[in-house]
Amino acid sequence: MSAAPEPSEAADVVVVGAGIMGLAIAYHLARAGVERVVVLDRGYLCGGASGRNGGGVRAQWSSETNVRLMQESLRMCRDFASEMKIHTWFRQGGYLFIVRTEERRRQLEASVAVQNACGLGTRMLSAAEAQGVVPELSTDGIVAASYNADDAVVFPWPFVWGFAQAAKKLGARVHTFTDVVGFHTRGTTITGVKVRAGGVERTIATRKVVNAAGAWSPEIAAMLGVTLPNTPHRHEICSSEPLKPWLKPLVADLTDGLYFSQSTRGEIVGGIGQARVPHGIDQESSFGFLGRYAKSLVRACPILGTVKVLRQWAGCYDITPDANPIVGAVDDIEHFYQASGFMGHGFMMAPIVGKLIAEHVAHETTSPLFDRWNLRRFREGKLLSESMIIG
Ligand SMILES: Cc1cc2nc3c(=O)[nH]c(=O)nc-3n(C[C@H](O)[C@H](O)[C@H](O)COP(=O)(O)OP(=O)(O)OC[C@H]3O[C@@H](n4cnc5c(N)ncnc54)[C@H](O)[C@@H]3O)c2cc1C
Repeated sequence: MSAAPEPSEAADVVVVGAGIMGLAIAYHLARAGVERVVVLDRGYLCGGASGRNGGGVRAQWSSETNVRLMQESLRMCRDFASEMKIHTWFRQGGYLFIVRTEERRRQLEASVAVQNACGLGTRMLSAAEAQGVVPELSTDGIVAASYNADDAVVFPWPFVWGFAQAAKKLGARVHTFTDVVGFHTRGTTITGVKVRAGGVERTIATRKVVNAAGAWSPEIAAMLGVTLPNTPHRHEICSSEPLKPWLKPLVADLTDGLYFSQSTRGEIVGGIGQARVPHGIDQESSFGFLGRYAKSLVRACPILGTVKVLRQWAGCYDITPDANPIVGAVDDIEHFYQASGFMGHGFMMAPIVGKLIAEHVAHETTSPLFDRWNLRRFREGKLLSESMIIG
């Protein structure tokens, strides 16, 4: 933190991170009439988690907040293609959650009750009924399942490109390969963002900054002396050879974190949680993942035993201590807004949460969401919960 030299550019709002969250925020800021919006990313579009995820979009959650947000976000995802004039491969085949313990069944029933109260048509199913939805599913060990036919899967990249193009059309500037390396401040006020691009350092004058750097958000916050409790954890995923279409829903096992769906091109795309993965930025693939994934996948669907994996990759989950994001202004620095900690579901939440954050930043509107998800909850010991986390 230091006094700002002559700025090379000025912005009303600088958004750090051109993943889906930062770009959705930039787009809605521009729509809300903010004239000078600048988005900065140290890499290329889709280089972060937004270009590496499974594209799952669902309204099945355990908290009313998440269910209601995702009902709206699902609608926004469905309409994205026609609004942005970009193909998203939106495929509404539902989500089938399976559980293998009695404790998990009770949690699932409680979640389904919350969803039904919000107007969602989710149904609890027996193992045999789950097999009615996916005939290739083995019922061995399945205690119960839940199914919501409205949940969906998309191809993630067009959402990133769509938001970027639309934001630019409205006047926002998106600078890729531009690393945020520090801030200029006066007391608790931000006066500029220090960036490095092509080996050259310069300053963008601004008073408002949104931290949407995903798994890197704690690094950005630390530049302003703000400590975020998020930690990055590698999450691996892979894609099989294409098969003829047979799998309608995304299947997720809440007991071991397995999930898989079939893309419109026929590939089985899926991953599995790994509880013991050490925290830290790591986007490398491992052989161990393939073994664990294959074992769990074949237990769920034995016919997949001979299918070949064609591609494997990894990205970072941005994990918070209570599995809920960190959103809104911080107490110690003026106009420094957080939009991080979205675990394995920030992609699906970005359309609606990006809009709400943009309105909050542009018009200083308040919303119960920004109290609920504020950073100060960790200091005040007001931790939240969410049991329908995959991976
Ligand atoms: C394998 C995998 C599967 C997933 N599956 C799903 C799913 O099915 N559904 C779902 O909703 N979510 C899923 N997620 C989670 C989802 O991808 C993320 O929550 C979401 O993409 C986060 O978006 P973001 O914009 O916050 O972060 P990111 O997309 O990671 O963007 C952050 C950006 O900040 C940039 N940055 C970092 N440091 C700096 C700096 N110093 N200066 C400038 N720029 C910087 C990075 O380059 C990056 O582009 C999955 C994630 C992974 C890894």
